[in-house]
Amino acid sequence: MATFEEANKCPKCGNQMEATLYEEDPIIKRKLFSTECLTEGCEWFRTGRIIQTDNGAVYERAQGERGQSKSFPVLSPSELAAGQRMVEDAVNADLRDTGRPS
Ligand SMILES: [Zn+2]
Repeated sequence: MATFEEANKCPKCGNQMEATLYEEDPIIKRKLFSTECLTEGCEWFRTGRIIQTDNGAVYERAQGERGQSKSFPVLSPSELAAGQRMVEDAVNADLRDTGRPS
């Protein structure tokens, strides 16, 4: 599993990107960060990415393109439903194992 630092590395120059928390759901422990490379001269300077942390898991949400550093992908209803099912499955698994949500 990638750490946040690993996920937050610029794919072009390898430096840490500037991460800004822009959405947080404390109930399901999900955070979304917008990140952008601030290394001048880097091919990805000011290029945005989305890093999602989900209850300890870290992954990249979507890859930005040059010139779209401030636009975030909009989730389709099916993506939202899939995410919701994953959370419900995880909660149900916890309930089975411990008798209560963790
Ligand atoms: Zn860079």
